Amino acid sequence: MLRTGEQYVEGIRERRHAKIYVMGKRVTDVTTNLFLKPSVLAFKATFDAAFQEDTRDLARAFSPFINEEVNRFVHIHQGPQDLVAKVKLLRRLSHKTGTCFQRCVGWDALNTLYIVTGKMAERGDGVYRERFLKYLEHVQRRDLALAGAMTDVKGVRTLRPSEQPNPDAYVRVVEERDDGIVVSGAKANITGVAAVDEVVVLPTRAMTEQDAAYAVSFAVPLDTPGVVVVVGRQINDARRMEGGDIDGVPYMAHHEGLIIFNNVFVPWDRVFMYKDWRWTGPLVEIFASFHRQGYGGCKSGLGDVIIGATYELAKTIGVDNKPNVADKLAEMVFLNESMYSAGLAASWEGSKLLKEGGWWVNPMYANVTKHLVARFPYEISKLAHDIAGGIVGTAPSEFDLKNEEIKNLLEKYLQGVPEIPAEERLRLVRLLENVSVSVGFLIESVHGAGSPAAQKIMFNRLYDYEKAGEIAKALSRIKVTVKWPKAPEPRRPSESEKL
Ligand code: SF4
Ligand code: FE
Repeated sequence: MLRTGEQYVEGIRERRHAKIYVMGKRVTDVTTNLFLKPSVLAFKATFDAAFQEDTRDLARAFSPFINEEVNRFVHIHQGPQDLVAKVKLLRRLSHKTGTCFQRCVGWDALNTLYIVTGKMAERGDGVYRERFLKYLEHVQRRDLALAGAMTDVKGVRTLRPSEQPNPDAYVRVVEERDDGIVVSGAKANITGVAAVDEVVVLPTRAMTEQDAAYAVSFAVPLDTPGVVVVVGRQINDARRMEGGDIDGVPYMAHHEGLIIFNNVFVPWDRVFMYKDWRWTGPLVEIFASFHRQGYGGCKSGLGDVIIGATYELAKTIGVDNKPNVADKLAEMVFLNESMYSAGLAASWEGSKLLKEGGWWVNPMYANVTKHLVARFPYEISKLAHDIAGGIVGTAPSEFDLKNEEIKNLLEKYLQGVPEIPAEERLRLVRLLENVSVSVGFLIESVHGAGSPAAQKIMFNRLYDYEKAGEIAKALSRIKVTVKWPKAPEPRRPSESEKL
């Protein structure tokens, strides 16, 4: 089934029992709450994409699991073409929202569980596979909005889950019953969590045998008893409550939140990993690479918004043709397209992890993508601010421009070239400010899908230094015989590829 954006909004409007808090107050209807409404609109864009002319083909896919067309955000990738379509769709949706549209984490969680439970089944344990396929059918038939919840609050960072002074610092199983399990703990920085139908929970790190109670994956509707969501603040978020139409642009936004599981009951048919700690390492690796690949699409899409706003702002003051501006713009394009190219490479070079599919990205290029994303957006924003000028940090508010007493003066002094009115300049300045200094383009680019150090660990695991050394030794005539593998890249298989 394909839901329209309106149907999605209607669906979460009726969700009365979810316990969601924003700035100290309980929110019963996220669709009308001024703080969360921009997030709902960004989520909605992922549903609308399946019906809009330009995105229709990218946003729809045929699901062999229900023999129907589904929204790509609940699709299981069937080949490199699907992985490429993901990156392209994400780039375009950033153009339409100007923010993170939040639905990819749940999507990556589905594809991860498809592979991990498939691997479990190949090893003879098919029960999780059966449950997961039923759950997938449930999600695809209803076109659900999912959040993926991975990052635990983690307590003392140097201690393993089972060694923590707070035993709930990582989500864990506290009780096993005939009909299911009871879980406790909390997950932090969960993208879009207040605007979803359901949450898919995954372990956040590789576990050891002592941590078995923490090796758990499951899905619950957001309004399950015991689930509490506390939404976090973001830069410029209070502007949403001002009632203006310039200072707060873009009118879509994302949110991240803390989700607390306070003795939450999960029936067995929604449990996809239970105390089997050996699968946690591959699960984390598979999920992280999926999400790192996606960033090449969504962040380059935001980069386009910033490059566009910067170019138009250069026009407002008549410097768009100056060589130093052209040089900086070219640099921005190079940085932006590098992130996208890496995301596409990670997709085209994807491979099958299961006998019957289970398409995964190339983990080296997915990690390269995310590492570029951890660096380049800051560079892009810096260049944008350089070209646009100090006004990005000092512009008067839209309410000044609307005040009859000073309106004429501001129109006169905010204007650059006579053809472009002051209000247009202010609109572009606000767009640039709100996107280029946003959590979505900066902080999330560093920490989302794993902090930069996590990618460096992967580079060291995946790069075959011995092979590179052998190549160097052969060319320096230290060694004369080299065993040449077919693949030209000196790369070692990842943990999941070895399974
Ligand atoms: Fe999707 Fe990008 Fe947001 Fe992640 S950061 S949920 S990939 S839009
Ligand atoms: Fe993210």
